[in-house]
Amino acid sequence: MAIGRDLPASARCVIIGGGVGGTSIAYHLAELGWRDVVLLERAQLTSGSTFHSAGLVGQLRSSVSLTEMMMYSVELYRRLGGGEFDPGWTECGGIRLACSPERWEETRRQAGWAKTFGLPLELISAGEAAERFPLMAGDGVLGASWLPTDGYLDPSQLTYALADGARRGGCRIFTGTRVTGIDVHRGRVHRVRTDRGDVEADVVVNAGGMFAAEIGRLAGVRIPVIPFAHEYLVTQPFRERGESSLPTLRDPDLLIYFREEGGGLVMGGYERESAPWSLRDGRGLDHIPPDFNGRLLEEDWDRFAEIVANARRRVPAMDDITVTRLINGPEAFTPDGEFCLGETAVRGFFVAAGFCAHGLAGAGGIGKVMAEWIVDGEPSLDLWRMDVRRFGEHDRSPRYTLARTREVYETYYDIEYPNHERTAGRPLRMSSAYPWHARHGAVFGEKSGWERVNWYTANAAAGDGSLRPRGWAGRHWSPAIGAEHRACREAAALFDASSFAKLEVSGPGAPEFLERLCDNRVAREVGRITYTQMLNRRGGIECDFTVTRLAEERFGIVTGTAFGNHDLAWIRSHLPAAGSADVQVADVTSQLACFGLWGPRARAVLAGCTTADLADASFPYMTCRDIEVGDVPVRALRVTYTGELGWELYCPSEFGAALWRTLWEAGEGHGLVAGGYRAIDSLRLEKGYRVWGADITPDEHPLQAGLDFAVKFDKGEFIGREALLRARDGREGRDRKRLCCLVLDDPRSVALSNEPVRIDGQVLGRVTSGGYGYSVGRSIAYAYLLAEHAGPGTEVAVEIFGEWVGGRVAREPLHDPDGGRVRG
Ligand SMILES: Cc1cc2nc3c(=O)[nH]c(=O)nc-3n(C[C@H](O)[C@H](O)[C@H](O)COP(=O)(O)OP(=O)(O)OC[C@H]3O[C@@H](n4cnc5c(N)ncnc54)[C@H](O)[C@@H]3O)c2cc1C
Repeated sequence: MAIGRDLPASARCVIIGGGVGGTSIAYHLAELGWRDVVLLERAQLTSGSTFHSAGLVGQLRSSVSLTEMMMYSVELYRRLGGGEFDPGWTECGGIRLACSPERWEETRRQAGWAKTFGLPLELISAGEAAERFPLMAGDGVLGASWLPTDGYLDPSQLTYALADGARRGGCRIFTGTRVTGIDVHRGRVHRVRTDRGDVEADVVVNAGGMFAAEIGRLAGVRIPVIPFAHEYLVTQPFRERGESSLPTLRDPDLLIYFREEGGGLVMGGYERESAPWSLRDGRGLDHIPPDFNGRLLEEDWDRFAEIVANARRRVPAMDDITVTRLINGPEAFTPDGEFCLGETAVRGFFVAAGFCAHGLAGAGGIGKVMAEWIVDGEPSLDLWRMDVRRFGEHDRSPRYTLARTREVYETYYDIEYPNHERTAGRPLRMSSAYPWHARHGAVFGEKSGWERVNWYTANAAAGDGSLRPRGWAGRHWSPAIGAEHRACREAAALFDASSFAKLEVSGPGAPEFLERLCDNRVAREVGRITYTQMLNRRGGIECDFTVTRLAEERFGIVTGTAFGNHDLAWIRSHLPAAGSADVQVADVTSQLACFGLWGPRARAVLAGCTTADLADASFPYMTCRDIEVGDVPVRALRVTYTGELGWELYCPSEFGAALWRTLWEAGEGHGLVAGGYRAIDSLRLEKGYRVWGADITPDEHPLQAGLDFAVKFDKGEFIGREALLRARDGREGRDRKRLCCLVLDDPRSVALSNEPVRIDGQVLGRVTSGGYGYSVGRSIAYAYLLAEHAGPGTEVAVEIFGEWVGGRVAREPLHDPDGGRVRG
């Protein structure tokens, strides 16, 4: 590799980090034709976490995009074989055991999901698993999944193979070159400083593994990764020559994994007691020694004891085999167990780190999506769950990051039931009405650090316990959800939506700026609210929210709790390059409380505590007025996410408790019920309101998502318009799918998301979101189907835990199709 040469004074792109992540990005940038790329490594290639990896490549992951990335990795590793740096890819297949009924349910659910994107995952019996992995004791095994394309490789050889490919494509690699500073000018990266000179660059990629947080700090950017010690052992060879090779084996109930290594075994696992490493004062701020390269940590047999005992149970031969080494190495983990990818708040400064012990499995896909993101300005897949922009201000505290990351590590192999809530670091962000909710028996969930009411236990008595869905959907469920839902349809319900992310775009250039970003016309008269999307150049939906024109040069945006940071970054990334004197963008989430009051009695409730004229003529649907409610100054938006008449009522946060109390007291005699987010979800499903990140993503455009009504082609240019026009005129194949509303024959079989959808015996779709509609009395699911199947009445079957449940495509929305209730 290029050692000892002079650094160039400038490059188009500088990659920091010569592990498997950095070299894969360099390789894929070269494939896309970027020649002027420099990779800087402070020591030798693979001298970070990469060299001590166990090298297992498992493809089945928690999201479609991530699994597709892993599938691409396998394709790439096959291709790299036979070259000068053969990565030793061994496609031995992988077994994942299920040793409890719940795990078996999970396995069947995964097998169903895998069918929707061509991952060849099969269900096998305990006996078949033992045939494939004869060292295994079969006791307690109920079944397993078998993925013939899983395997393992040599991590260092893979890194060298990628580096070689990158170098052939023009990339220059400088080892022994430490980055010591990153210069940022007007919010844009422009220079990397090293101990061997400086390099100017428009694009800098932080591929620093567990050092990524430290490198991020050089540019004033926080990357929430924490180094954790991770261990596996290697045994002496003990298998006879000529014995058939073993697949990889995972036993998540026992927290362990195995693979073959030269006639012996590699065995590792996820300990219940995690070990964060090298933190300043042990409180979460990483503090890795500057000379920590090519090194391991001391063996920690005590912490590994449970893993060893479990391994002996599953593979009794472990009792007699000599262990040659226990490898203990640090690796970067994140607070939610997902990667940190993408452009940071500093323009041109990208990150690809925090691979949570599956960086080898991910490297191929990571390199590909990162290179596309850098070259095209957008990734080619929906990467929201891995996007570094998902982390907001609430993730800034290292101690909080540590608490969350610990929980994720220690529960790595646990079954994650939908609607399961994590507990570490809570409560952190609370609405002004939080004490009221707590006093009234609220069951809280957490999103982006906010405590949000899921339901109130006190409402359970008014609900119907016989509606509990079967299986997993019946966990984390209460009859209160149905009671709160029905109160909203029949009388009125009050919801605390203070966690909504609220943004403001202002300045003389704001109207034109927003018109260029939104597919709907938003610069309308002051007081008008518009539902709109912001699209990428492919026409995919990047943001989905309402825009209110608060004044001639001021707009308020309200978006989902978890999407504020993402949407803010998307908007900021389109600010005029010369600075934003003309347009300012601000996050005002914390300044404003928000309560949703909806239901046929909502007007009567609100009229009881305001002098404002609430009649349709003076306060129509999709308008905003400043009013007073009790003694509280309120910005009232006549919008709904439940499909009922009502308002979102915003006030400065310090008035929040008074506003909630005022509304609650005004509701007496009108049947007002306090409700939670689970009721809202059921209400919005009946009304067909989409959820960004599930029903609509950067991979779908509004015409596919049934949001044509929000697209104003005639308003002039906006980002994504060209792609939409091509799709509308049938010039692109991708527009053939449509989001469809499905109703299932069995109301207690409830889809959670990702279940396969079959038509005429063929899997043709996947559920995007689902739930039970308490007013329509139906189990509802949304899925994209080809246009020819999207017509109402098409018979479908949805696989829910291995059972195909019949249903059909329904005309949507199921509730109030002509919108009469919303318009009051
Ligand atoms: C014990 C163990 C077992 C594992 N097993 C598996 C497995 O079976 N399968 C799997 O998929 N994954 C596994 N992993 C995870 C995998 O090894 C990592 O995810 C992956 O290697 C991370 O690669 P990286 O490129 O992000 O980081 P690294 O390999 O750490 O590379 C980062 C590089 O950045 C360099 N650097 C840092 N600071 C600077 C600076 N200022 N200037 C220049 N260079 C700098 C470092 O020297 C380092 O070489 C395992 C990890 C461990 C610890």
